[in-house]
Amino acid sequence: MDQKDIRVRFAPSPTGTLHVGNARTAVLNYVFAKKYGATFVLRIEDTDRERSTDESTTGILDDLRWLGIQWDEGPGAEGNYGPYEQSARLDIYQKYLNQLIEEHIVYPCFCSAEELDRVRTKQKENKERPRYPGTCRNLDLEAAKKRIDAGEPYVLRYKIRQEEITFEDGVRGTVTMPTEMFGGDFVVQKSDGFPTYNFAVVVDDGLMKISHVLRGEDHLANTGKQVLLYRDLDFKTPKYFHMSMILGSDRSKLSKRHGSTTVREFKDKHLLPESLFNYLCLLGWNPGDDREIFSTEDLIEAFSVERLNKSAAIFDPEKLRWINEKKFAEASEETFLETVHAVAQNEFEKLPWTKSEVHEKLLLLRPLIKTPEQAKEFLLILSREAESDESGAVTEFEKFLPIANVVLQYLRDHGLSDFDALKKSVQEQTAAKGKELFQSLRVLLTGQVHGPDLGVLFPALDLPKTIQKITQYVEK
Ligand code: GLU
Repeated sequence: MDQKDIRVRFAPSPTGTLHVGNARTAVLNYVFAKKYGATFVLRIEDTDRERSTDESTTGILDDLRWLGIQWDEGPGAEGNYGPYEQSARLDIYQKYLNQLIEEHIVYPCFCSAEELDRVRTKQKENKERPRYPGTCRNLDLEAAKKRIDAGEPYVLRYKIRQEEITFEDGVRGTVTMPTEMFGGDFVVQKSDGFPTYNFAVVVDDGLMKISHVLRGEDHLANTGKQVLLYRDLDFKTPKYFHMSMILGSDRSKLSKRHGSTTVREFKDKHLLPESLFNYLCLLGWNPGDDREIFSTEDLIEAFSVERLNKSAAIFDPEKLRWINEKKFAEASEETFLETVHAVAQNEFEKLPWTKSEVHEKLLLLRPLIKTPEQAKEFLLILSREAESDESGAVTEFEKFLPIANVVLQYLRDHGLSDFDALKKSVQEQTAAKGKELFQSLRVLLTGQVHGPDLGVLFPALDLPKTIQKITQYVEK
């Protein structure tokens, strides 16, 4: 297949925020597109009029951009196959529906919701599989058209034949399903005149010349129905890849119960977008070796459809956190500072330093900082603005005062130039050692009993503030 003919799409329904399951679909389609030189199409599937909102569309587009996913065609990037919002394509669907009505493949159904409910309850009582009973299947088309013209509400249904559907799936191999499992003649156009997902998706994928469809395996049963429509509409069926589902740690469907599950939540927690991108990719695909940290370029390089995962993936927030720590450690100075800024915005306002002084301190502390939250914590320690002063815990030490005097003198004479020299000088002049020495130094310099490596922290201390605090201890 020519590269220009390889076309994939991500087709979210704008009925809420972007869930990590759908985001994984987007990520893998994107990596696939970049790997194989394909065109990545973004289509908004807003045919559910009750649940679709513009706000959700905007949010999903923002979340995709945040993840680093750019679409070649779609909203804001018009291509040759638009419009890319289903609600703007109703006349296109109508044309194909009319064709199928004339061919007696699709027919109007006037059954009311109450009637269908009654049938379903009966079927349940009889322990039968719920299915449309075919009431309107053989209505005379001309008579039906008259009822439609007279304003009677109706839906359009697809006339199912008893047969077996077979399609090739790149992850699962050959998939076969009998049409009996489709619940009878399914609806292709709702009473509000909008097409159903299964109908619109086929017309759109067909007209938009989508060659490969990567999506969650929850769509497998839909694919069966869609294959029927591809055949009847004379479109070329795309190659399918149904990816395993993402489960929570207890192997149940991933949901709010398992913690953050939307892209927005991770964005709000200031996770690096490349960490989520990396992790989501590993939830659907594996590199065939034990590598786990990838840049987006490396993912594209390593990707191949043959290694899309067959078994369910478990969403592990700890793993994501670990990936983010690694990425945060490797991030550029600019990204590092930007992220810390975003997380510690409110704290920054309280600090007694200019922005560039803060940045200088942060860069000195960088080897200690695993997360932006830690950066915030360390800045508070350095500025002596931490919640509590824990000095009470060590002022009982016999040598605390003599140590304090030496530290004070040292800081006055030498400032923050050399922590080892300070330590040595305290040891020599007070004979303090072990816990007494280290805890006293820590409390004197930071006000805290515990904390990050003092040697690294030392050059970033606030000298006047530290001298002022130690003077207070000495004079107390
Ligand atoms: N709008 C559908 C969804 O969000 C798209 C499914 C598909 O990829 O065909 O689930």
